[in-house]
Amino acid sequence: MTVVLPAYNEQDNIDRAVGAIGQVLSDAGINYDLIFVDDGSRDLTWKRIDEAAARDNHVHGVSFSRNFGKEAAVLAGVAQADGDCVAVMDCDLQHPAETLVPMYQKWQEGYEVIEGVKKSRGDESKFHKASARSFYTIMSKATGVDMSRASDFKLMDRRAVDALLSLPEYHTFFRALSSWVGFATTEVEFDVAERVAGESKWSTGKLIKYAINNIMEFSSAPMQLVTWAGGIFFVFAVILAIQTLVRYAMGDSAGGFTTVILLILITGSIIMIALGIIGTYLEKIYDETKRRPRYIVSKKI
Ligand code: UDP
Ligand code: MG
Repeated sequence: MTVVLPAYNEQDNIDRAVGAIGQVLSDAGINYDLIFVDDGSRDLTWKRIDEAAARDNHVHGVSFSRNFGKEAAVLAGVAQADGDCVAVMDCDLQHPAETLVPMYQKWQEGYEVIEGVKKSRGDESKFHKASARSFYTIMSKATGVDMSRASDFKLMDRRAVDALLSLPEYHTFFRALSSWVGFATTEVEFDVAERVAGESKWSTGKLIKYAINNIMEFSSAPMQLVTWAGGIFFVFAVILAIQTLVRYAMGDSAGGFTTVILLILITGSIIMIALGIIGTYLEKIYDETKRRPRYIVSKKI
């Protein structure tokens, strides 16, 4: 089994992760290696990975030329992995290493995608929980898979990994794509642990952007929204047009300044929002057509 661990500014967690995962897997008699992907960290993460690799031949490392984000780091690690099955987990140990064992057993039973699902969401603010819930409701609708408890903690068989790696798109959402590829899938529950060292890389702003991006990656429903808004406005337009014409025919010159002002404001803003939505999709298409690599590797051990 190859375990992929994306790491961004996790200097204090590398040794902990090597220790904890190594302990669990060797106790269970599972053959393993670890691939840390240093996602352009600014601290000593790479040095720690380098040292760990010198000490322990289970440990390998890939270093990015800059920060490309967790999605890219996961893909890079998975692309380097040569195990018959590949696990992906956070290196801050919020995904408990012990869970790798039941996941591995499921794999031996013949499952090809084993999803880690959150039994509890760990310590998060009310606002965070509520927004996560609405994001996952939308995502579940868009992907057709229940994502409410989904996480990036997974174990995948070689075949599922190869299918995942064959996807050509620039923007990926690992959490959903692992179920999108299909194959015999099952779940293993785990409790999200507290982060031991370092801090979460997610600010509220970053999360909102991430949520919007992923929804648009998977669904064109926001564009349909534009069509719906257009349809509703057309109905109003017809009603108002008839009313105006009737009043004109009766020689009643239209007052209705208020109506005119409101209509201009409302239609104007809806048109601008619509253009924004379409623009965002264009941006995605633009990103995809540039065919840039998803990440650039600078060092490997
Ligand atoms: N991570 C990464 N690149 C980034 C941000 C995060 O590789 O740009 C890694 C990070 O090192 C960790 C995992 O992704 O192993 C999850 O990040 P974090 O713990 O900050 O997220 P949270 O657990 O708070 O959702
Ligand atoms: Mg974390």
